Amino acid sequence: MDINTFYKNTYGISDGILKITAEAEKDVEKYAETAKQICEYNSLKVLGAFNKHKICEAHFYPSTGYGYDDSGRDTLDMVYADVFGAEDALVRHSIVNGTQAIALCFYGILRPGDTVVAATGRPYDTLEEVIGLRGDNGNGSLKDFCINYKEVPLKDDKIDIGALVGCIDKNCKMVAFQRSKGYSWRNSLSVDEIGEAIAAVKAVNSDIICFVDNCYGEFVEDKEPCDVGADLAAGSLIKNPGGGICRSGGYIVGTKKCIELVSYRMTCPGIGRECGASLGENRFMYQGLFLAPHIVYQGIKSAMLVSGVFDRLGFDVMPKICDKRTDIIQAVRLGSEDRLVNFCRGIQKGAPIDSFVVPEAWDMPGYESKVVMAAGAFTQGSSIEISADGPIREPYIAFYQGGLTYETAKAAVMTAADYVKKCI
Ligand SMILES: *Cc1c(COP(=O)(O)O)cnc(C)c1O
Repeated sequence: MDINTFYKNTYGISDGILKITAEAEKDVEKYAETAKQICEYNSLKVLGAFNKHKICEAHFYPSTGYGYDDSGRDTLDMVYADVFGAEDALVRHSIVNGTQAIALCFYGILRPGDTVVAATGRPYDTLEEVIGLRGDNGNGSLKDFCINYKEVPLKDDKIDIGALVGCIDKNCKMVAFQRSKGYSWRNSLSVDEIGEAIAAVKAVNSDIICFVDNCYGEFVEDKEPCDVGADLAAGSLIKNPGGGICRSGGYIVGTKKCIELVSYRMTCPGIGRECGASLGENRFMYQGLFLAPHIVYQGIKSAMLVSGVFDRLGFDVMPKICDKRTDIIQAVRLGSEDRLVNFCRGIQKGAPIDSFVVPEAWDMPGYESKVVMAAGAFTQGSSIEISADGPIREPYIAFYQGGLTYETAKAAVMTAADYVKKCI
């Protein structure tokens, strides 16, 4: 079997790209060693939590209606709490996405007159309408509820701890951090960097709730935000912790007190976490968490390949193949709409689902610019499965993430490289 002939015949990959990819793969092997060790450590962390809580078939039984006494649901909360270094957790298939999980944290904790400070610059696009930075008055944003917002921009890609501490006043109830770069051209923050800033905030006032948007960061390092003092962290189950298996959902981890308050917003005061039928989703949520460290490792290796290949094609990449990674996102600065769209079309072509569709830029709900997206996933919009997207604005950066298996991601990455090379 000649694998290169196979790539040429099935995907039309050119000799040039095959050669560049072979070179890049040598670097992937070299630099993926750390990620491999982290994967093993995190896999054991998850396995240990499963063992401790004696997970068994009974935890997969579906509850219906009110969902009282759903031991699978309640035990999964405890497993998440242990894995994420937290006291407590809420893991629900009924949280519609990461944005809602994050919004639940804001609405659960903040009250009229309070201030929330964003410590890592402008938050992810979809949170702008939650905060009230964009969108209609009267839609129920934090601003509508008289919750003030302040923002501390990053300084040289780092948290500006001096400025952050300086803007804490008596109304400051919460400081919010974002671990991942989101749609911006910067390195993502490490858990330790966030921990340092949390310590500085707590030194001013230990009652301030430190929240971390953990999207795309889960299992990339050997620590999670609550391990370094965060009171709350949240993310999406169709990203890292769902392991490509969860069909929908979000999670929140944190202190007992914070989780209780968030649970009253998730359902309503008085009910909190007592209700919520799992409807048979528990099995997927357990299985997804079990696989997550390994799937994240596949995604990291795939992202490293993107980095290595596009670096060799002459594009700026962030992070570089040798850089320490703190999330699964790989950014490539493509410099033109044509190349950005073609990058996504190439990734789509190498996806297992919907490989025959051709991505176009569109106005996506919650996003400010038009966005082009490659999404060829078993679960709609699941970006731990292979995906790529980018806002149609200067400097036309493609954000690549995921890849359930490195081997299949490689075909997609080579196709994207071939498509982009044709429009250089
Ligand atoms: C994905 C993501 C979110 C939430 O997005 P959803 O599409 O609502 O899940 C929030 N913050 C960051 C940094 C993200 O990557």
